[in-house]
Amino acid sequence: MDISYIINELGEDREHYFNAVAPPIIQTSNFASNTVEDLRQKMLHEPEATLYTRGNNPTVTMLEKKIAALEGAEHAIAFGSGMGAVSAAVLSQVRAGDHVVSVRKPYSWTNALMRKLLPRFGVEVTMVDGTNAENFRSALKPTTKLLYLESPNSYTFELQDIEAVVAIARAHNLVTIIDNSFASPINQNPISMGVDLVVHSATKYIGGHSDTMGGVICGRRETINQIFVSEFMTLGAVLSPHDAWLLLRGLRTMPVRMAQVAETTREVVAWLEKQAKIEQVLFPFLPSHPQYELAKKQLRNNTGQFSVLLKTDDIGKVELFCNSLQHFLMAASWGGHESLIFPIAASYAPGKLKPTMPFNLVRFYIGLEDAEYLIRDIEQALDKV
Ligand SMILES: *Cc1c(COP(=O)(O)O)cnc(C)c1O
Repeated sequence: MDISYIINELGEDREHYFNAVAPPIIQTSNFASNTVEDLRQKMLHEPEATLYTRGNNPTVTMLEKKIAALEGAEHAIAFGSGMGAVSAAVLSQVRAGDHVVSVRKPYSWTNALMRKLLPRFGVEVTMVDGTNAENFRSALKPTTKLLYLESPNSYTFELQDIEAVVAIARAHNLVTIIDNSFASPINQNPISMGVDLVVHSATKYIGGHSDTMGGVICGRRETINQIFVSEFMTLGAVLSPHDAWLLLRGLRTMPVRMAQVAETTREVVAWLEKQAKIEQVLFPFLPSHPQYELAKKQLRNNTGQFSVLLKTDDIGKVELFCNSLQHFLMAASWGGHESLIFPIAASYAPGKLKPTMPFNLVRFYIGLEDAEYLIRDIEQALDKV
């Protein structure tokens, strides 16, 4: 299916709403039935029925159809946040006594799900260095049910060889889930590589304007419907029609935003790599990166995230650099119009457990500003340290 068709036409039944170009926000909690039989049928087929907005809502359904198509999936369900989607996807595949193998250093709250929440319910988790697919195989136990991926992972952007991990999963009858937020559906489609479930934080590139939150699970219709009648309906992490509408609006421009972000990021990274005060740039699309070939194979293009290690052993200098940036906001998240930094130095605090990442690591996200504008800002901040 053409991306242009998916984004501009798929799922839009304009004749049902006055041929309005922008879809309506169906701001309702419930939908009435005309007869008992009508209601009975809706209850019998709730994953398809428009009965109650915690289940289905037409504005949300439109978004789900588009994201499923962008990922090449049969079906999708939307959640109120990326973590709503990640947690429901993982919980749907395990029960007490099961074992999960997860990539090490996933997104922070996925890490908390793996290390704190799942063990409370008797699910054991092993975390492995995902840069070598064989580490997933070595960690398998007779009770293993699920392999969890995030490629590239957060902060250090290490890749997993998705097809190699899927081959291991298939040989042992295991389910695979991947968090594809980093790449967005524009740049990587893991279902075509054999992954069972793809999850997204739609808060990031899909929304694209830092003004809404959402999450999605994509997969086979049967699996998604199973999640619908269980984790989705019971945990209730539902996406509101208004937020679905904002995400639909974000989707309209996603391909052009992704292209612009990719180009600007390459320019900024090329400049940063030459700076004496930068020890290393962590960016899989640098030819010097050990996973460059895999990055080119799995991803259509780079995105806007990378990290730098500043060449200093003084946390004060890292803080001075970050505090001196004038056009990069210091904030969590990424994927919006605005460029951001997130310094690991902020996780270093007296009395707190030492973080696993070094304090001189600063994560960057490049937004929609001009490359020159951003480079000048980084230059003046580097000059200060
Ligand atoms: C932000 C993020 C999440 C969580 O998404 P929310 O929408 O904030 O709940 C999950 N995975 C990755 C990779 C993220 O960056």
